[in-house]
Amino acid sequence: MKLLWLSALTCHGNVHSFFNYPQIEKFLDDFSFIYHPSLQTPYTLEDIFTHDIACDILLIDGTLEDGLEKFGVEINHVIERYAKKVKKIITVGTCASFGGIFLADNRYGFLYHQEQPHHRFDSFREKTITLSGCPIQPQTLVHTLYAIKKEYKISLDNLLRPQEYYGYTVHNGCLRNEYFEYKIDAYHYGELEGCIFYDHGCQAPYTHGSCNRILWNESSSKTRSGSPCFGCTQPSFPKTRLFFTKKNMGIPQYLPTGIPKRAYLSLAGVAKAFKIERFSQKIVED
Ligand code: SF4
Ligand code: SF4
Repeated sequence: MKLLWLSALTCHGNVHSFFNYPQIEKFLDDFSFIYHPSLQTPYTLEDIFTHDIACDILLIDGTLEDGLEKFGVEINHVIERYAKKVKKIITVGTCASFGGIFLADNRYGFLYHQEQPHHRFDSFREKTITLSGCPIQPQTLVHTLYAIKKEYKISLDNLLRPQEYYGYTVHNGCLRNEYFEYKIDAYHYGELEGCIFYDHGCQAPYTHGSCNRILWNESSSKTRSGSPCFGCTQPSFPKTRLFFTKKNMGIPQYLPTGIPKRAYLSLAGVAKAFKIERFSQKIVED
């Protein structure tokens, strides 16, 4: 299966993250890139821009912008040309999916400007899969490519993200869930004990992704190591004040997805009444 990786406005974080896929050599035996920004490929970027080369899947990385050119050719025209030819299109990362870090009035993701549909490439909606993340989680990208190759059915959510990876919130699988349930916050970043939702800005309960189910570098995640989730898979990313939980009268302004405020207040009241000795102790003594 032939792949084309095209970059628009990007920091190349997705390229680096992709190379962290643990079985990358095996992957490169099973797929071939006609062009990739950091791999030796049979064609140069100029070849891709100036000729029509056969390929099966188009991977778009980075924020799109009207009039953005390379080699005197508008990138959007090249994307359009290959988008017509390929079987599937994948937006790799939050910039290509929703605009992300480089978003501006004249910049957008392939099909979305944050959560609003953007109509420039609307005719390709049927064959597009959104894989958001800043950067993309490499397993999510590679497993989706294998699923396409094997012609598996891929169920998508309303933003065209595979349910298997984005149907859960990042909160799912975090080792701090017990502390979350009993409303016990961490005193400091990096501590093993405590949840970092109540005071330290963790956005995992309303962020869709697999970071605590498919671990980064096969070992850990942000929240497991004591840093808040910044919500990088969401269309609204990036928000400001990432290490801060905005509250009204002591209640977090944004509650976990799907939890009504009244139910949350009742639950919080009950949970806080528990005094559980185990949770006041260090997991590993200094
Ligand atoms: S640290 Fe974040 S992900 Fe972990 S339990 Fe708390 S809110 Fe959930
Ligand atoms: S933990 Fe949150 S911010 Fe970090 S990579 Fe996962 S979704 Fe993005």
